[in-house]
Amino acid sequence: MRFSGWRVLKEGLTGNTGWTPHWRDPEPKPGYDAIIIGGGGHGLSTAYYLAREHGITNVAVLEKGYIGGGNVGRNTTIVRANYVLPGNSEFYSHSLKLWEGLEQDLNYNVMHSQRGLINLFHSDGQRDAAARRGNAMINQGDDAILLDRAGVRRLLPYLDHDNARFPVYGGLYHKRGGTARHDAVAWGYARGADARGVDLIQNCEVTGIDIAGGRVTGVQTTRGPFRAKKVGIVVAGRSSQVAAMAGMRLPVESQVLQAFVPEGLKPVIDHVVTFGMGHFYISQSDKGGLVFGGDIDMYASYAARGNLPTAEHVMEAGLTLMPMIGKARVLRSWGGIVDMTPDGSPIIDRTGTEGLYLNCGWNYGGFKAVPASGHCFAHLMATDRPHGAATGFRLDRFRTGQGIIDEEGTGAQHNLH
Ligand SMILES: Cc1cc2nc3c(=O)[nH]c(=O)nc-3n(C[C@H](O)[C@H](O)[C@H](O)COP(=O)(O)OP(=O)(O)OC[C@H]3O[C@@H](n4cnc5c(N)ncnc54)[C@H](O)[C@@H]3O)c2cc1C
Repeated sequence: MRFSGWRVLKEGLTGNTGWTPHWRDPEPKPGYDAIIIGGGGHGLSTAYYLAREHGITNVAVLEKGYIGGGNVGRNTTIVRANYVLPGNSEFYSHSLKLWEGLEQDLNYNVMHSQRGLINLFHSDGQRDAAARRGNAMINQGDDAILLDRAGVRRLLPYLDHDNARFPVYGGLYHKRGGTARHDAVAWGYARGADARGVDLIQNCEVTGIDIAGGRVTGVQTTRGPFRAKKVGIVVAGRSSQVAAMAGMRLPVESQVLQAFVPEGLKPVIDHVVTFGMGHFYISQSDKGGLVFGGDIDMYASYAARGNLPTAEHVMEAGLTLMPMIGKARVLRSWGGIVDMTPDGSPIIDRTGTEGLYLNCGWNYGGFKAVPASGHCFAHLMATDRPHGAATGFRLDRFRTGQGIIDEEGTGAQHNLH
């Protein structure tokens, strides 16, 4: 089924009766060439690129709930390529380029909106750090503009620029950064993978990983066992639990991250704005809701709901930055389980078991990575070699200490930042 203006017009005039489901609900086969555990953004994009780039179509995505029910449908949708360290820079740059062609590629409106992202700074030292980051972004081939006070005031007039504690000194403006509609990304990849023959099996929880003679042979699930030559673990917040099924202990801690949305408002915020000093960031969705959040809840949990102290902290930070937000009434808040690594950077690697691959450690920033993560993970699963944009994401860096990509300078303990 292709989408076009004519099709929308025709369906609109004929009661929308001609649309068919976006993907099949197939009966699982007893065996596959490759099984992807996890139907989130990363699992679906992996399946899509396995089929599209490598012609591997005898693939199943096994999802314990429903497609898009995990973090891919719970995040605050920020897409950017403003990383500073080698290892991350080239990867997120690759991802942003894939985003820029994604709607044409998938023939699906994921509402990718490059409205620009502004990271605020509030001291001379932070200005230096922002200049350094901006230079790294430009060296990588991406865009960055260092805004002075007047520049930020022009673009974001509604901020409290002269706040006594956090006066705005300027901002790092990344024009190609922005947002996308999160669940449409899942649906677009799901539809594209299905159209190429991938079986999307929902309500199918993986409960065991079969290994014989050091090789993966299949998986056990709540819908029975399936054989597989290759298995990819792509389960974000559940990574430690699923990897444990293969006898692995991961350097990953699962923590809660919350998001908040008030009632719909007229357009007021036309960029993504981050206030790092206060742990607060905000954008406005096309429906009018302000979408905002802060830091992780700072304790390990598998409960996809947040706690009140963090909610209060986020509201305080929002009011500090833009007092006008106090007039909005928060309607919804929710939490997602994020897979935190010690250096804040991801893992895309083989494991000690032949045919078993690992994709995790997306911390609170894996939505923007969805295209490149799938692209690079599919390359690894198909060829057994890392993709050029993802060579740094090795699992053994946490054992050897070599190649740590400590983007935030948080050291070995993420929860101390
Ligand atoms: C509140 C919040 C805000 C965020 N904001 C941003 C942002 O603005 N920008 C950004 O880049 N990132 C953001 N993130 C991070 C981003 O959402 C995640 O890093 C990313 O979505 C994780 O990858 P995923 O989409 O594959 O995860 P998920 O969608 O969680 O996919 C994993 C899937 O695995 C399934 N699964 C788990 N165990 C099993 C099993 N045993 N068997 C079968 N299936 C299983 C789960 O049901 C789930 O559907 C945010 C996250 C949260 C929670």
